[in-house]
Amino acid sequence: MRRVSVFGATGSVGVSTLDLLGRRADVAVEVLTGGQNVALLAQQAIRHKARLAVTAHEECYRPLKEALAGTGIEVAGGPGAVVEAGYRPADWVMSAIVGAAGLAPGFAALSQGKILALANKESLVTAGPLLLAEARAHGATILPVDSEHSAVFQALTGEEIGAVETVTLTASGGGLRDWPLERLAQATPDEAGRHPNWDMGQRITIDSASMFNKAMEVIEAHEFFGLAPEQVQVLIHPQSLVHALVAFRDGAVMAHLGAPDMRHPIGYALNWPARGDLPVERLNLARAGRLDFAEPDHRRYPALDLARQVMETGGASGAVFNAAKEIALDHFIARNIGFLDMAPVVEATLAAFAARSPISRRPESLAEVLTIDAEARALAGTAAQARRAKAV
Ligand code: NAD
Ligand code: MG
Repeated sequence: MRRVSVFGATGSVGVSTLDLLGRRADVAVEVLTGGQNVALLAQQAIRHKARLAVTAHEECYRPLKEALAGTGIEVAGGPGAVVEAGYRPADWVMSAIVGAAGLAPGFAALSQGKILALANKESLVTAGPLLLAEARAHGATILPVDSEHSAVFQALTGEEIGAVETVTLTASGGGLRDWPLERLAQATPDEAGRHPNWDMGQRITIDSASMFNKAMEVIEAHEFFGLAPEQVQVLIHPQSLVHALVAFRDGAVMAHLGAPDMRHPIGYALNWPARGDLPVERLNLARAGRLDFAEPDHRRYPALDLARQVMETGGASGAVFNAAKEIALDHFIARNIGFLDMAPVVEATLAAFAARSPISRRPESLAEVLTIDAEARALAGTAAQARRAKAV
């Protein structure tokens, strides 16, 4: 029996992960964590016979405890309890909490020296070098679950990273791809929150429309695969069937194709290093008919330029970038700022942080990353207010 834990079980990636786990007889679920959706978390914990269910919200502890009364399933609540659950023994851990909140539980899980399936891209963007060092120190393996990074990882199997010229991540262009530039300022959270191909959580879907998601992924690839900034490229590919391309020094290009279904990268991480059957739609290229590619327009997607800046600067800038992006997104969802205000808020936050602290200095501990995160959130809040004041 493999002991498995799922952090962020009630989210989009979490639900897909449990769908796959539910089809297997060889796994025993140790921990499931969620947020405010107590009913779903309780239902999942019962269905998958989890040993421990944790809600990140203290006020949800009591309702969860009541929902699981008499089941024998342990219950815990609060952000600290989520992190603590990361120290429970597990052979395979899914990190699928959204945002910087996923960082500490992922670090904790690495202490077990087993496999961390990493969907939480914020971990690599904010603390890439520390996370990889922590994995090395414990002999743990990190497997990328972001679809593009899983695709690159698969294309690199048996290859030397030194033989790679470039890695190209594809992007659908998001829900507003075909909108005229001048209309973008008016886009609402609902409009930006509809994705043409992938069914994902609200935050990452809006990040796809702004390409902050792709910007995060570029940094993620740079950190995870140890690639130079200029080696990581982005192409718009509206069909979302090619997930990534790896170009080698001999001119060969390996592409990874498949239906847009997160159960593929999740299942790959679950079966790794073997390949097993997965219940995903099979690719039918004749039916797809065509595959289109285009260079992204940087006026439409300024987040991509910010990602370059972050990779060049290094140090604390990834953590600042991510925190500022999360705050800018909160303000956009709350309709305090417009769709096109998010990138300027992030840019202003990077500048404000750099004016106060040496931004290119690498954080040396998780605690330091969390301090930078908090500081950047405060600066981003101020930048968002300023942006709002300007608009009114
Ligand atoms: P989601 O919003 O659907 O789910 C997020 C999960 O995290 C939920 O279980 C929620 O309860 C939990 N959560 C939220 N805030 C929390 C907090 N402060 N503390 C503890 N738990 C908290 O998100 P998602 O779309 O499943 O994405 C999860 C992660 O995977 C993100 O980092 C995202 O970028 C990444 N990812 C998602 C997809 C996708 O297809 N959805 C693809 C690639 C990568
Ligand atoms: Mg992705």
